[in-house]
Amino acid sequence: MRVLIALRISNETDASTSLERQLQDCMAYVEERQNLGWQVVGVARDAHISATKSHPFDRPKLGEWLNNRAPEFDLLLFWKMDRFVRKVVDMQDMIKWATAHGGKSLVSAKEPALDMVGPFRAVIIDLFAAIAETEAQNISMRVKSFQNYAKSKNVWAKGNPPYGYESFRDIDGAMRLRVRETQKDVIREIYKRVVEDGEPYSTICDDLNARDIMSPGAERMSNRRKNNGDSPPIWRSRTITTILRSETILGWKCEEVKVPGKKYGVSQPIVTSAGKIRMADPILTDDEWAKLQEEMNSRPSSARRSIKNTTAYRGVVLCDGCGRNLYLFNPERQQGRPVYRCNKAANRESCGKGYAFRAEKVEEIVEATILRVIGDLPMHERYYVKGSNNTQRLHEIEQYVTELQRSIRPGGKNSSGFAKKSTEEEIAALHEEHDSLSAEGDKPDRYAYRATGETFRHMWERNKDNKDERTRHLLKAGVSIRLNPLIKGVSNTVDFGAEIDLGKSLHQPFTIH
Ligand SMILES: [Zn+2]
Repeated sequence: MRVLIALRISNETDASTSLERQLQDCMAYVEERQNLGWQVVGVARDAHISATKSHPFDRPKLGEWLNNRAPEFDLLLFWKMDRFVRKVVDMQDMIKWATAHGGKSLVSAKEPALDMVGPFRAVIIDLFAAIAETEAQNISMRVKSFQNYAKSKNVWAKGNPPYGYESFRDIDGAMRLRVRETQKDVIREIYKRVVEDGEPYSTICDDLNARDIMSPGAERMSNRRKNNGDSPPIWRSRTITTILRSETILGWKCEEVKVPGKKYGVSQPIVTSAGKIRMADPILTDDEWAKLQEEMNSRPSSARRSIKNTTAYRGVVLCDGCGRNLYLFNPERQQGRPVYRCNKAANRESCGKGYAFRAEKVEEIVEATILRVIGDLPMHERYYVKGSNNTQRLHEIEQYVTELQRSIRPGGKNSSGFAKKSTEEEIAALHEEHDSLSAEGDKPDRYAYRATGETFRHMWERNKDNKDERTRHLLKAGVSIRLNPLIKGVSNTVDFGAEIDLGKSLHQPFTIH
């Protein structure tokens, strides 16, 4: 049994459940089973893993083992169930995964009752399925009924308040919203600049960013991410239009309504039998709101702009100067055309050569290069193959054959007549099996790939409207494209070369899982 030990802790302060303590217990557990052939092949330590990111597949260390190194272990040992998963349904996911990957075992070092190696495996699995179902029903019922209740009241039940407002505990104990003066000032300023000055969103953003006014995303940023040194989100045109399009700034309670067929939603007021729900004082008057919407509607549609403003093939298209990502920069109403550029302002470690490539040409060149080089390669999917352990079977055959041979010797129980003949035939058949098994040898567990029947070009064309999906395949295969200006020193150019790096795809087929 090749054992992977999985440890998780949300913070390091609690000595009784520290990673070291968990590790000691798990190592002792394996040691006691050394005579059964247990040996540790790896330890996945995930410290400081927050509750929201705690599904086993999403953890940095354990996730890597589960997603990409499954053939390297047979048994996953964790300290206690509540360290391993948060919800029973997560455990059920793990059981399904373990079954689909060669029947791996899941074992708790401190909870012998949950032993999934022994004869109760099937019982435990059924038990988990039943509990998971009940739990899922209960949770969704509880959450839904509370949210339905809260939705129709002027109470703030969950999540971050909309920009311009803050939550507070009212005298009756309920959470409500009130205007947050600093953010209200920002919204009113943006309103004036959009409606009265007709200023483009992008220059407003540049100015807000230059003045270090925190964007909504920056205000919401957790301390953990700040301490990690993550750079806070900046103002973008989309940030502004999202705020200005939502009736939350009129003080109405809104909800996010999904746009059919799109990943994003739009904010819409909740309407009850008594009309809209007043959450707080309005930041704009109805009259100002009407003018604002009219001005915004007269500008290029947000759908069109958002496509133009999204870096296509992010992570695939790189600067040849430094190998870092190029980002789409769209000057909108200023002179100049959209470009992909290596941006020192966005990325301090970039090369600073200021390379910029015309956007319309970039997408054309990327597509042409990719389809020319890898368009005809077949697409594959990955699947799990359980290995075969022939050594043991060979040993069995050898012992059995010895026994049979003894039985046909003079004086043995099959030493004459029909019994002798049929035993000899049996021996011959076993020899044959022995030969073919020993020729095959032991085979380890492994991933294998099978063709899906599609070429890369098929996939590309099928995802004409889904560049994210195209990008995902390119990133997965490790394909990148470096852009370099053909004439030295000339930036903002349509004269540039593209060099494709095939990454792993040279050695490993494209996969679609
Ligand atoms: Zn660069």
